[in-house]
Amino acid sequence: MTTARHYDLLVVGGGSGGYAAARTARDLGASVAIADPGPLGGLCILRGCMPSKTLIATSDLMYGVREADLLAVRSAEPRVDYPAMIERKRRVIKGFADYRIEGLETFELLQGPAKFVDRRELDVGGVRVRAKNVIVATGSVVAPPAFPGLLETGYIDSDAALDEEKPPSSVIVLGGGYVAIELGQFFSRVGVATTFVIRSPRLLSGADDDVGNALTDYLRDEGIRIVNRAFVERVERAGDRKRVVFRRDGEEGAVEAQEIFYALGRVPNIAGLGVEAAGIVSHPITGVEVDATLRTANPNVFAIGDVIGRYPLVHVAIQEGEIAARNAVCDKHESVDYRLSKAHTIFSDPQVAVVGETEKELLAAGRPFLRATYPFDDHGKAIAIGKTKGFVKMLAGPSDGRILGVQILGPEASDLIHEAIVAMYYRATVFDFVRIPHLHPTLAEILTYPAEELVVAIEGARTASERGDLPIAASVPG
Ligand SMILES: Cc1cc2nc3c(=O)[nH]c(=O)nc-3n(C[C@H](O)[C@H](O)[C@H](O)COP(=O)(O)OP(=O)(O)OC[C@H]3O[C@@H](n4cnc5c(N)ncnc54)[C@H](O)[C@@H]3O)c2cc1C
Repeated sequence: MTTARHYDLLVVGGGSGGYAAARTARDLGASVAIADPGPLGGLCILRGCMPSKTLIATSDLMYGVREADLLAVRSAEPRVDYPAMIERKRRVIKGFADYRIEGLETFELLQGPAKFVDRRELDVGGVRVRAKNVIVATGSVVAPPAFPGLLETGYIDSDAALDEEKPPSSVIVLGGGYVAIELGQFFSRVGVATTFVIRSPRLLSGADDDVGNALTDYLRDEGIRIVNRAFVERVERAGDRKRVVFRRDGEEGAVEAQEIFYALGRVPNIAGLGVEAAGIVSHPITGVEVDATLRTANPNVFAIGDVIGRYPLVHVAIQEGEIAARNAVCDKHESVDYRLSKAHTIFSDPQVAVVGETEKELLAAGRPFLRATYPFDDHGKAIAIGKTKGFVKMLAGPSDGRILGVQILGPEASDLIHEAIVAMYYRATVFDFVRIPHLHPTLAEILTYPAEELVVAIEGARTASERGDLPIAASVPG
């Protein structure tokens, strides 16, 4: 029996969340080791955000060239050099991964899978490690196939979709969330006949209906087939093609394609961790249970990122990692403020970006609100550059005008949303927002229009109430 190595903190998993936790703990003076079996780099760099956005850059450019006629640029039909695109992606990703690995190697890096043997001790690839505190950051894995026949018929998941040397001639996308949308639109734009099969009436069923409906229409307009309200019954082979059989409005239907892209999400990666030995409570779908301070049922073990199944996003994993590290090393009880952290974006075209509460969430919580929207096809800068798809929406408190949420479906939404994030960070009202200078002509100006409309509505209501009129609708949902 070898003696165990000792650290103040052992971080299990060196992805985005784990790396941020390790850095924070070291800056606080703790002795830190990271356990990770590799491949090193984490999901975002190796098989998530970065490879997907690198490929989408090519498909968006393809689409831009096709649309160039609108801006009086005449060009021949573009052709994607698929192997060259994949080679570029591999080169770009290798650069990011090498940089991350250099960072990981500045820590005591234990290359092996970690497994708890008791509440404080772990086995890392045959090495015994004891730590005062442990942060579990093992991420997520692709959800197991959910439909009869899918495994036998064969499919690609996002890992494979991002690394295919040659695209399929046609693809059925199972799923309507962000990974399905981003990569489904990518396939379509590089020339793959693409069909979505989704259970809900629209893509992005978790978003507000106006956003999901508009995005569904835009994707249909560019030639993507979307079979909605379809309940998949089975998947089977049809000669050298693959068939998805579903029930829709009580009738059986089917679609066929060369490949199936299974994009129905990911589940927390807890297999093989020895959670019982650690005294941690976990669930296969919702992941490791933690309290507001990211402590598990074992107060010396914290968990962060995708493995806790809250908001599977890089910036959330990083923020949780930093907070868990401070709590572990300094024995603090800081908690995560998800009010803003749950902000997210989807790199479709047009893009989607959301911060704060949605209408659906406010209605479900019974919170009154006012809403105003403004379309990009009436906005000067958007018209000038020919990017007129989508709209912005602002939600505010009916009496104080505090901004409760902003949604953008449109060009550069993933960047434009940051103004709203900053405004909400400082708990700005629509009255503040309209006083903040906005340069002209910019896409960012568009957010001032719903803010102005809300100012007028709130001031109108105030004047009416001072006059003693009956109050106008305190909330204007939908
Ligand atoms: C296609 C796709 C696109 C995405 N795009 C975006 C995007 O645009 N924006 C965004 O914010 N998010 C995006 N995400 C999500 C994002 O990648 C994840 O939320 C994020 O990477 C999670 O970080 P993490 O630190 O929790 O886990 P990971 O980065 O997955 O790290 C987990 C680490 O744990 C290690 N590990 C596993 N088991 C063990 C063990 N037993 N012992 C030790 N180590 C172990 C793994 O090797 C890995 O290095 C995307 C995901 C996908 C799949």
